[in-house]
Amino acid sequence: MIQQLEATAEWDICIIGGGATGLGIAVDAASRGLKTLLLEKFDFAKGTSSRSTKLVHGGVRYLQQGNIKLVIEALKERGMLLKNAPHLVKNQSFIVPNYKWWEGPFYGFGLKVYDWMAGSLGLGPSQFLSREETLQLAPTLDEEGLRGGVLYHDGQFDDARLAIHLAMTAADHGATVLNYAGVEKLLKEKGKVCGVQFTEAILAKQYEIRSKVVINATGVFTDSILKMDDANAETLITVSQGIHIVLDRNFLSSDTAIMIPRTDDKRVLFAVPWHHKIIIGTTETPIDKVSDEPVVLHEEVEFVLHHISKYLTKDPGLADIRSVFAGLRPLVKGNTKYTAALSREHHIAISDSELITIVGGKWTTYRKMAEDVLDIAVIKAGLQSNECKTRELAIHGYKNETDFDSPLYYYGSDQEFILQMIKTGETPGEFIHPAFPFIKAEIIWAVQQEMCMTVEDFLSRRTRALLLDAKAAIESAPLVASVMAKELQRNDDWIRNQVDIFNTLAQNYLPSIN
Ligand SMILES: Cc1cc2nc3c(=O)[nH]c(=O)nc-3n(C[C@H](O)[C@H](O)[C@H](O)COP(=O)(O)OP(=O)(O)OC[C@H]3O[C@@H](n4cnc5c(N)ncnc54)[C@H](O)[C@@H]3O)c2cc1C
Repeated sequence: MIQQLEATAEWDICIIGGGATGLGIAVDAASRGLKTLLLEKFDFAKGTSSRSTKLVHGGVRYLQQGNIKLVIEALKERGMLLKNAPHLVKNQSFIVPNYKWWEGPFYGFGLKVYDWMAGSLGLGPSQFLSREETLQLAPTLDEEGLRGGVLYHDGQFDDARLAIHLAMTAADHGATVLNYAGVEKLLKEKGKVCGVQFTEAILAKQYEIRSKVVINATGVFTDSILKMDDANAETLITVSQGIHIVLDRNFLSSDTAIMIPRTDDKRVLFAVPWHHKIIIGTTETPIDKVSDEPVVLHEEVEFVLHHISKYLTKDPGLADIRSVFAGLRPLVKGNTKYTAALSREHHIAISDSELITIVGGKWTTYRKMAEDVLDIAVIKAGLQSNECKTRELAIHGYKNETDFDSPLYYYGSDQEFILQMIKTGETPGEFIHPAFPFIKAEIIWAVQQEMCMTVEDFLSRRTRALLLDAKAAIESAPLVASVMAKELQRNDDWIRNQVDIFNTLAQNYLPSIN
């Protein structure tokens, strides 16, 4: 990637930010034949894009809010993503449990509308369930007062793994994608943006590059890039935090997820099986200060525990939580103080300097966001470009008929290479920790093929160890560091330093100390 960077005099498109939005743009731009560079300050999906609820969905909540356009668009994107990345996105069934007489007909009707909106891209019809059928599918639901339920379908995915595979797809189509490359300055000629200055942190080397178009896709950091462009620029976004808690599977003990349609703050709450655990969330807390490592608030954990306990036979407590994590929503500013009511639609802005900014949206709609912003960029800069191809573009690792219970499923077709590494005895198939299904060969693969640079990259985003069990992830860090050090030819100081950095960061994911 560095060689490609140094060999290119001018890029067509330079994207700042390697989350869902930026990576989606990189895939689209490269597959249109544009000379594409993506710069990410930390690791791909280090920000919001690794901290979602992991749903590829139209958004039942947005339907409740009457945002029909967003729901229809997202349902269309859900269908396309299932076709283009069947190794990472799956059909997940959900139950809305009914405890009041009106809930069955009310949610049942709403979900029929949801089915209808998905049209031919639907994942299966919603269904009314009796009390017995509901308990059969979700045996740990609180039985007292339960009348029945409504079953519906949505998509589920692994967000950081999709991000890594988008980076690989972009690279497969010729893009140069760099992590640990933070943009510090916008370069200008006659008042127009013509490139950026950034530092590549691994080599500690500063670069200046030229590009016909520069796109700001930095999520909650959008305003900081806008301020680089113009110190007096108006801020565009407002930020709200959402957290998730992760519990052992026995609290749900089935493959069916639960959707609680109305919390005290009028939101929905999900409890979804994910990598043999359950992830429960989320919250909506307005936040003033953005950070690359947002901190979970104690009251947010209490909120989630309080609400989920009303629906489960066994009440989870603080000690049952394996991990907690927070994410920040980049929301386009509106004139309401309630962030939950702000639109999840995306917004594109072009400043006087011709810097293009894209913000808002959802993981589910990343592809459409990329198509929209590039259609504008191509016309604005008069670029020679092919048509958008991403509606039917296979994502790296594409593999039909995925067995989502197989331990290495999230590599898709790359799985074969990892299995080959184990077979040829090149690397052992030993587990990195008794609590995880992850093996040593994955560390080697991640370093060699997935631009994994730090212990955190491996434990948080190449695998999801940190989000699944923070304590076990901390215990895995020394082994991961030593295997990585061998691959990257680093010394013992590097190993010690990496383990220290990871331990400090991982404290944020242990619920008891916050
Ligand atoms: C709690 C929560 C749950 C969610 N659940 C869902 C869900 O289930 N389904 C769904 O569809 N959507 C969901 N979303 C929304 C979705 O996660 C976001 O819309 C999406 O991840 C935003 O991606 P992004 O690329 O815009 O931002 P980010 O992922 O934050 O990416 C921006 C990137 O820019 C980088 N950056 C910042 N400054 C610089 C710089 N100077 N130089 C280079 N790089 C820089 C950052 O490091 C970061 O990686 C959820 C959001 C939250 C908060």
